Amino acid sequence: MSNLRLGVMGGTFDPIHFGHLIAAEAVAKSYELDSVIFVPTGNSWQKNSLASAQHRLAMTQLAISYFPDFQVSSVDVERTGDTYTVDTLRDLKGQYPTAQFFFITGADSLAGIGTWKDSEELWNLAHFVGVTRPGHKLEVPKSPAGAVTLLEIPALAISSSEIRAKVVSGESLEGLVPIKVLEYMDKHNLYRGNND
Ligand code: ATP
Ligand code: MG
Repeated sequence: MSNLRLGVMGGTFDPIHFGHLIAAEAVAKSYELDSVIFVPTGNSWQKNSLASAQHRLAMTQLAISYFPDFQVSSVDVERTGDTYTVDTLRDLKGQYPTAQFFFITGADSLAGIGTWKDSEELWNLAHFVGVTRPGHKLEVPKSPAGAVTLLEIPALAISSSEIRAKVVSGESLEGLVPIKVLEYMDKHNLYRGNND
């Protein structure tokens, strides 16, 4: 298939939540994407995940089962070494040589993009879409003209860090993560301090 328009949403997804899903959905609609590929990190160079890559991959799969146009890729989980977006995009381009990629980032991640590995090459691999995230200013980072566009989306003040903290304190996660993800977290005792 040629001319596929594919969104890419990279993240630790520790765990995945409605903030990620709504952001992807808003960009998919606005940019007329055929699909959005969620790519959980393997080892992050920026932070350590609490849940294992396999758990984060499984939760991402469960979360996107509600969205027929979303899919999950394990390219970052399978690659050894730290995860860098430039490698994610190179791998996906290998799988979909003629597709146009739209890399989706929240305002917080977008601000740091200049520090990412091979940032100059990133602009050739995908168009970057920055979306609103409560508590962060949404602005175009230093980048070639037209490489980044911004999209205002319904603001969801949800973060994985907040969710992990709520598990520890026993607070309700209603409205923060899809029910299947909640059931998976319960079943595997995730974020209660005994993760594998
Ligand atoms: P943590 O608190 O562990 O950092 P997180 O909620 O920030 O988790 P990540 O997996 O770090 O989730 O984020 C992956 C991507 O999703 C990033 O581009 C991030 O900016 C974006 N994102 C996460 N939550 C939101 C949200 N509520 N609204 C918009 N974008 C979001
Ligand atoms: Mg984050």
